[in-house]
Amino acid sequence: MKKVGIMGGTFNPIHIGHLILAQRAMEELSLDEVWFIPTGCSYMKKDSVDVLSGQERLEMVRLAVQDNPKMKCLDIEIKRNGYTYSYETLEQLNRENPDTAFYFIFGADCLFSIEKWKYPERIFDSCTIAAAVRNGASVDAMEAKIAELKERYGADICLVPFPNLEISSTDIRERIRLGKSVRYLLPENVLAYIEEKRFYR
Ligand code: ATP
Ligand code: MG
Repeated sequence: MKKVGIMGGTFNPIHIGHLILAQRAMEELSLDEVWFIPTGCSYMKKDSVDVLSGQERLEMVRLAVQDNPKMKCLDIEIKRNGYTYSYETLEQLNRENPDTAFYFIFGADCLFSIEKWKYPERIFDSCTIAAAVRNGASVDAMEAKIAELKERYGADICLVPFPNLEISSTDIRERIRLGKSVRYLLPENVLAYIEEKRFYR
């Protein structure tokens, strides 16, 4: 079986936290590739005013991963009509790639909120979850949550050792709006694209 990591997110914009997490998960879990899938219309972010279009977020992800042959980005969620849900994406990926085992990579924030997502049991049935520390989440609290989800859903979840990186797209958008530098927080070509298009000002 081929092993593929899935990084889902709004990527508004993509930053080095996403890229380092993908790289660490690939190494830690011996994944063959990581596929980035920008969300289409996310129910959870439907009230956010500053989400760029799917095409623009996809373009930033494409620029960020273009020099890494083990990383690619997929437009399957931004092409879907209506709200997009992770369970649908993972079920579609399984149907289309019967020879591949999928690892859904995410930060601790998602581990603690996943039961509020649509059909979490169908997500757990479709993949292994790889969760990483974020926002100072304690490993103890994460392990307790993992045990609970294993018990309740038979979920397959592992912890990816990860340093706590205080980097978020929200902070990057805010810094740009305030005219502060975001250099080094995202790849140079992504930053150049944001500046050229005058995004987030
Ligand atoms: P926003 O602030 O707009 O929500 P974000 O930085 O949280 O943006 P998302 O696109 O929401 O980025 O996140 C995509 C995925 O990447 C999620 O699983 C999230 O937990 C993870 N992630 C993002 N930043 C980090 C980080 N610094 N450390 C660990 N995981 C991260
Ligand atoms: Mg987020």
